[in-house]
Amino acid sequence: AARCTSARPVDTILAMQQPLPSPCPGTGHPADPCVGRYVGRFAPSPSGALHFGSLVAAVGSILDARAHGGRWLLRIEDVDTPRTVPGAAEGILATLERFGFEWDGAVVRQSERGDAYAAALARLCAAGLAYPCACTRRELADQPLARDGSRRYPGTCRGGLPPGRAGRAWRVRAEGVVRFCDAVQGEQEIDLAADAGDYVVKRADGLFAYQLAVVVDDAEAGVTHVVRGADLLDSTARQIHLLGLLGQPVPAYAHLPLATNAAGEKLSKQTLARAIDAHPPQVALMAALRFLGHNPPDMLATAPLAETWAWARAHWSLAAVPRRRQAVADGFS
Ligand code: GLU
Repeated sequence: AARCTSARPVDTILAMQQPLPSPCPGTGHPADPCVGRYVGRFAPSPSGALHFGSLVAAVGSILDARAHGGRWLLRIEDVDTPRTVPGAAEGILATLERFGFEWDGAVVRQSERGDAYAAALARLCAAGLAYPCACTRRELADQPLARDGSRRYPGTCRGGLPPGRAGRAWRVRAEGVVRFCDAVQGEQEIDLAADAGDYVVKRADGLFAYQLAVVVDDAEAGVTHVVRGADLLDSTARQIHLLGLLGQPVPAYAHLPLATNAAGEKLSKQTLARAIDAHPPQVALMAALRFLGHNPPDMLATAPLAETWAWARAHWSLAAVPRRRQAVADGFS
């Protein structure tokens, strides 16, 4: 991907009025404008054990935060309760501790934040920005696919529910072009209407959509920098759009290459990715650093884990991360 040419990391028509974070050189030097301001986070979904792909996101986000003298928050994204595996959240926290991750503040759980999501939806509705939708999945099955694999919404219920139909989900009106500069993936430009169209913020099963939850949580926590896997690059325009509708500042984004198996599939429970616990922390941490374009010396393999972290904090550079959307995680899929 081309490096960004815009002056600001995020530049969107809709969020234009918002003060935007300026690009941070990432030196951790006292003159670094991010010191004391940077708030990063790691937000795993407890749908299974932590695998190499999530370790990469955790390592990249914590190192970028610490390199900027920033805070690093931890949020369990269990908003999608049917996909939540009992005990997975505890397992993820235990694995992170074993790997030597230290987060700031209390762990936030989306399953406890329904009131905040409901309040955000109420604000969107009061402003006429969200509307109830009666369409079923089957009725939308012929619509073209958006980048993220969802169906583009044709706007059926935009002007009001069809006679005799009841609202099932809630959607927000999505118009305009969102532009942002991703620190790894480069310039992005997404025409919301041509991509997913009006998107769901509350699902037909009564659960709040990930797009709404992530935006409300990041805004409330004051997150300034989102460093995560590139599988979420396609959701980012909607999240920037939603932040604009809610009058919240837009963070800077860095989407790390997604770890895949040899077949190019995202590591996940579905692709039977091995739990990262199956590997010694030292070996896995060094592999994650190499995956992110860094070169920890081999002698660290036999040194205490803390030494690898010290090396990583001293050498971290987002600029070293390969500018690609995905890469094969050799030996870890
Ligand atoms: N919960 C998402 C995942 O595990 C990450 C969301 C985010 O970082 O914004 O893929």
